[in-house]
Amino acid sequence: MLGIKIPKYKSISLKKDFIEYKSPDKVYIPLVNGYDTDVTILVKKGEYVYKGDMIGKTKGLFRVPIISSVSGVVSDFQEMSYAFGDTVKCVVIENDKNDNYKEDKEIKKNISDYTKEEFIEILKDSGIVGMGGSSFPTYVKYECDKKIKTLIINAVECEPYITADHTIVKNKCQEILETIDAILEINNIDEAIIAIKNTNTELKKYLDDFIGTYLNIKVCLVPDLYPMGWERNLVKYIKKKQYENIPIECNIIVNNVSTIYAMYEALKYKKPLTERIVTITGDLLKDPINVCVPIGTPVKEIIDVVGGYKDSNKILLVAGGPMMGKTVSENLVVSANLACVLALSELKNDELINCLRCGKCVEVCPSKLSPVLIKDNVGNKERLKELLPNRCISCGLCSYICPSKILVREYVNKAKENIKN
Ligand code: SF4
Ligand code: SF4
Repeated sequence: MLGIKIPKYKSISLKKDFIEYKSPDKVYIPLVNGYDTDVTILVKKGEYVYKGDMIGKTKGLFRVPIISSVSGVVSDFQEMSYAFGDTVKCVVIENDKNDNYKEDKEIKKNISDYTKEEFIEILKDSGIVGMGGSSFPTYVKYECDKKIKTLIINAVECEPYITADHTIVKNKCQEILETIDAILEINNIDEAIIAIKNTNTELKKYLDDFIGTYLNIKVCLVPDLYPMGWERNLVKYIKKKQYENIPIECNIIVNNVSTIYAMYEALKYKKPLTERIVTITGDLLKDPINVCVPIGTPVKEIIDVVGGYKDSNKILLVAGGPMMGKTVSENLVVSANLACVLALSELKNDELINCLRCGKCVEVCPSKLSPVLIKDNVGNKERLKELLPNRCISCGLCSYICPSKILVREYVNKAKENIKN
C-alpha cells in the first residue's frame, strides 16, 4: 500500500502569489543541522558578519556550515524554538539590511561546466541540505562510489496544507530544469524524473511548457495519496525498486525540489543557502500565503507581516504539516527544513476515548509497524526491541486514522526515545 487519501487544504495558501520579506530587524540563526546540535561557534558578540559568512559548523560525521542569512552585528546568543519541536541555541544578528556579501558574486554562465569535485565542494560550502524536512547534507548523496542512474526530484508535497514546493516550481521552473540538467551532466546520471501528484494539473502545465529541450528529464505523475512523497514510496512507484537503507543502493538519488533551487543559487551565483519559501497557513490566519524569508526570521514577525491571526487567544502552532509536524511555541524561527507553519485553533481533548483495538493504525502504517502494540508497550524496552519503533517515519497516519483520537504517533516517538536510552 502506497498510502491513503486524505483531505487537502492547499488552495488556501495559493490564493495569492508568494511574497518576499527580506528585512527582519534581527535573525536568529539556529546552531543545529537536523538533530545535530554539536556545533563550533565561530563568532563573538559585537562582531560584524557578512551575508553568507560561516558563523558555525557542526562537529559530527557530516560537517555542515551554519551560515549568516543577513549582514550585520552579532548581538546575542538566545534559545529559540526550532522546526523539530525543540529549542536550540541561536546566533542573534542585528540586520543592517544592506545584504553585504564579503565578495562580489560572480555569475557562472554554464553551470554544467563544473567538475564533480567542484560541484561537491560548492554544495558543502553553501550549506545545502534537504529542504523537504530532513536537513540531510545534500553533498553526501552525491559523494558516493556507486553509479547514479536516476535522479528523482521530489515535488509531491503530500502534506495537506503545504505549498512551498508548488510555489518554487511555479516561479522558478526554468532555473530548476537548468539545474537538474547540469546535475545529470556533472554526475554522469542517465535520467531525471520529477515526481508530482497526478492531481496537480497546474504544475504539470508549467513543467510541460519548459521541459521540451531537456530530453533526459521526465515528469512522473504519482497517485494523490499520503505519504506518497516518502522516498521509499517514490522509488517503489517510479522505478519498481526497494532498498534496505538508502536509495543509492538501487543507484538512485532523491532530492527535494526546493533543494534543487538552492543548488541553482549556489552553482550559478555561489550564493549559500540563506533563505527559503515557507507556507504560512491555517484556519486561524487572516491571510495564508507563501513567503520567501531569510533563515532565522522569527515566525511571529512573518505572521504579523502577512496580516496576523483572526483570533489570538487559542493558537496551536505546528512546524511542518498536520501529519508530520511538531507543535511549537510562538518563538519559532525559520530554518532550512521548515517548509510550513500551521496556525490552527487549539485541539479539544474531550472527545478522546479508549483504544477500540480496531487495528486501523496497523493497516495504514507504511513502515509495517504495529503502532497500537508500541503504544501499549511504550515503557517495556525488551518488547520494544521486537516492535521496532525506530522504523517509524513519523508520517502521523496512525494518529490521523485512529477513531479514538489517540495521538498514537506521539507514543511511537516516545518509544523511539525509550529504546535509545
Ligand atoms: S507508526 Fe510511524 S510510520 Fe507507522 S503510521 Fe504511525 S507515524 Fe506513520
Ligand atoms: S487505530 Fe486507535 S483505536 Fe484503533 S487500534 Fe490503533 S490506537 Fe487503537
